[in-house]
Amino acid sequence: MPFLEKKTFTRLTPLLDFLEFSEQNRDLVWDRPKFPLMVPLRLALKMEKNNPHCPLFLQFVPLKKERLVDENYSLEPVKDPIFRLTPKLLKKYEGRSLLLATKACAMHCRYCFRQNFSYETSQKGFQNEIALLQKNDTIHEVILSGGDPLSLQSKDLLELVGQLDAIEHLRIIRFHTRSLIADPLILKQELFDFFLQTRKKIVFVVHVNHPKELGEDLRVCFQKLKKCGVTLLSQSVLLKGINDEAAILKNLCLELFDHGVLPYYLHQLDQVQGAAHFYVERKTGLNLIEQIRSSLPGYLVPKYVEEIPKKTSKTPIFSLHAI
Ligand code: SF4
Repeated sequence: MPFLEKKTFTRLTPLLDFLEFSEQNRDLVWDRPKFPLMVPLRLALKMEKNNPHCPLFLQFVPLKKERLVDENYSLEPVKDPIFRLTPKLLKKYEGRSLLLATKACAMHCRYCFRQNFSYETSQKGFQNEIALLQKNDTIHEVILSGGDPLSLQSKDLLELVGQLDAIEHLRIIRFHTRSLIADPLILKQELFDFFLQTRKKIVFVVHVNHPKELGEDLRVCFQKLKKCGVTLLSQSVLLKGINDEAAILKNLCLELFDHGVLPYYLHQLDQVQGAAHFYVERKTGLNLIEQIRSSLPGYLVPKYVEEIPKKTSKTPIFSLHAI
């Protein structure tokens, strides 16, 4: 079958054909989104046939609902540009810096808050960023983000982590990545070798929203990372119609732990234009967390948080009064 030779769907018709979508269901889909379609084969294979409510389909396939303009949603909800030290280096929180390693991603999530943010520059490499990090010994952790840091060419990523490794006052290199759910084989042996030999602590925060994104292939990848001493945490975005039920979130936490990953954050949606149909009220989120807390041990209950620009950390959502 020709479509199985491709690793990623970037055109709608082959994807909808593959998913055996009816004419009626195709009518829900938006064929000219600004943020283009990008669905890795691994995820397409996990989508339910002819089901526009499938939690994986909803996360990655543009619906006409994205065209709705809502005044509470903006193109740049987390206001990243005000934290820029360089086009690729942000300083938001005490002791930590965020390095936007690349604009590229292995998939395009429809709720992505960076979908309108053009931070790719013509500057190759990270000389300016490394120089700033070297100078500032109050920074003990670098968070690699993007896009997705694992979308960097393997040799560029190795060069970058090698440069970070050489900065003495840095203690932790943290990856925020969703690429592993697109391709659990994406990590090259050289990177595992680096993790084994470095004295820095390596943390992976894996972005997973639904238990269907997990699987045996991912478990093997996580086991390999753990053998290299990597700490594995998860981050999920609370999304309407996808994971806004206690049973799904509970199962997600249990499955993550079963895969060797500790649930870390349940994140309130960043209100980016086009994503309003994913919004879950804080009241509902609090209720969901309460239900998880009552049935799982405390170490499996993620912190329910949101990003409020100019705050010195993610803001925990404890009660409606704080809003
Ligand atoms: S993987 Fe993350 S950065 Fe990339 S499109 Fe999805 S949400 Fe955005």
